[in-house]
Amino acid sequence: MSLKLTILGCHAALPRVNTNPTAQILEIKNKHFLIDCGEGTQVAMRKNKISFAKIQHIFISHLHGDHFFGLVGLISSLRLLNRKKELHIYGPPELENIIGIHFEASQSIIDFPLYFHHTQAIEKDIIYEDDKVEIQTIPLKHRIPTTGFLFKEKEGLRKLNIEAVEKNPEIQTCDYYNIKKGKDFIKENGEVIKNDLLTFSPNKPLSYAFCSDTSFNPEMIPQIHKVDLLYHESTFKQEHADVAHKTGHSTASEAATIAKKAKVERLVLGHFSNRYKELNSLLSEARAVFENVELAEEGKVFTID
Ligand SMILES: [Zn+2]
Repeated sequence: MSLKLTILGCHAALPRVNTNPTAQILEIKNKHFLIDCGEGTQVAMRKNKISFAKIQHIFISHLHGDHFFGLVGLISSLRLLNRKKELHIYGPPELENIIGIHFEASQSIIDFPLYFHHTQAIEKDIIYEDDKVEIQTIPLKHRIPTTGFLFKEKEGLRKLNIEAVEKNPEIQTCDYYNIKKGKDFIKENGEVIKNDLLTFSPNKPLSYAFCSDTSFNPEMIPQIHKVDLLYHESTFKQEHADVAHKTGHSTASEAATIAKKAKVERLVLGHFSNRYKELNSLLSEARAVFENVELAEEGKVFTID
């Protein structure tokens, strides 16, 4: 089991030569999820060798331009690449019209199935589920309706204790699936072999929480409790807390406080204001509160095994 997060953009608002607005790719259980799609996302995907074809689900946190202005361009490229596979977009309801009007005006037909799934920022919602992964929205506090996203692996099958299994000649390969699902084995004479004698616990399911943009919001803490990786915006330093509060953003110290209170494993800071020429002071500010913290950076990969 592993989880891989590639940062495509992690700066606020105005792009600069080497920085992009928010976008990232999460690989979990062999699926690629695109989270936010700021301007420049397509180029960043090319640079980081992310296959366009592998993206089937796109999650947009909110409708400030630095989080979705790359989406029309990306969908347009998918058309040009003759995409036939479905594409699912999760985001605020208005997004469907915004995208639609671009393609209507240019009389371009999207000839692959495109599905919009409307999000709301009032309470958490399960917006995606398959047999291996569940994705929830995280209601955030920003100037317009905004959600983060919580990606959770589902618990896998139990692992066979091969030594124990092989000691019982009645157990056949065809019984393995039921045993891995947690069932006891019943011998022909009716004797029951308890499942915990035949298996080990499955690997711990991994989880990732994306929280941008938001002001300090302790309400999210129970939902992101003990996640393996938390990306939390830290647009400002504590000395600019007044601007952070006015604009619905967080400081590095506030992001670290959320990580600490939620007892997460690892914190990544992002969505940096372009007013800061160096970011190490944001890092040290956060580290004073929560030790296991790193800065996001375009092209940087965070892996959890
Ligand atoms: Zn915003």
